[in-house]
Amino acid sequence: MAFESLTERLQSAMSKLRRKGKVSASDVKEMMREIRLALLEADVNFKVVKDFVKRVSDRAVGVEVLESLTPAQQIVKIVNEELTATLGSDVVALNKAPKIPTIVMMVGLQGAGKTTFTGKLANYLKKNEQARPLMIAGDVYRPAAIDQLKVLGQQLDVPVFDMGTEVSPVTIVEKGLEQARANKNDLVLIDTAGRLHIDDLLMNELKEIKELANPNDILLVVDAMTGQDAVNVAESFNEQLDITGVVVTKLDGDTRGGAALSIRAVTGKPIKFVGSGEKLTDLEIFYPDRMASRILG
Ligand code: GDP
Repeated sequence: MAFESLTERLQSAMSKLRRKGKVSASDVKEMMREIRLALLEADVNFKVVKDFVKRVSDRAVGVEVLESLTPAQQIVKIVNEELTATLGSDVVALNKAPKIPTIVMMVGLQGAGKTTFTGKLANYLKKNEQARPLMIAGDVYRPAAIDQLKVLGQQLDVPVFDMGTEVSPVTIVEKGLEQARANKNDLVLIDTAGRLHIDDLLMNELKEIKELANPNDILLVVDAMTGQDAVNVAESFNEQLDITGVVVTKLDGDTRGGAALSIRAVTGKPIKFVGSGEKLTDLEIFYPDRMASRILG
């Protein structure tokens, strides 16, 4: 990474204070400046940074120096604890339908990785939970998306329901669900269309699909590389659709993952999965503590 890690920053800021018995208010101020800069460099949203720094600061003032830890180490520990708490503490699984099929709807901007994630999730649940998924190709505005999903379906030996690009996505989902019920698929994964920007048309269509399908999970797929923008995207989708979870993709790229922290803080919705590459097996369950360590660096 080109930038100094948060841990390094804190350690150098505190190195001069090693022999002090207590962390003073001005020491804390200096540390908070370093935390603020490091989080902003990690692409965490500035409002989220502000709240976060305040919480750490409240805990850090007056910290007693323990024999075993330097003041810097103690503050790093507080930062780590607060990061983990903000990121959600626990691993959150997918919601299950009491009666099959469990329905998962993917939403997000174009290029975020929805179609790829749909394939990854089908693969994961087929392998780990012996699921019998049906994938529904609802992205009618990007014709290549339908073919992409069909290719994934062939690779995974998972059926794909599509009606081409001339039928409304709502009808496609309706017919797809009928097929899933007839074939007793226990899992339905709906790939929806994304746009380059959020617009009313997209949101209204997604709302209609939501109403019709009544999904057990609505997962917002977000590209980790979009950094600061990810917050606005997450806020809008959550407001309009009341999402149930988040998938952060492209964490294999050169990013600290600040987007994950921002999205979780702003929406309050759990991050459920992480995409770590283009391959179908590049899917990981989201562990808040691991993400905290990554952001800390
Ligand atoms: P959609 O428009 O949201 O359906 O996005 P796609 O699934 O088509 O993905 C857009 C691009 O991102 C494709 O080139 C994918 O291979 C790539 N992609 C998706 N997920 C990941 C990931 O976790 N890591 C990397 N490096 N690339 C990804």
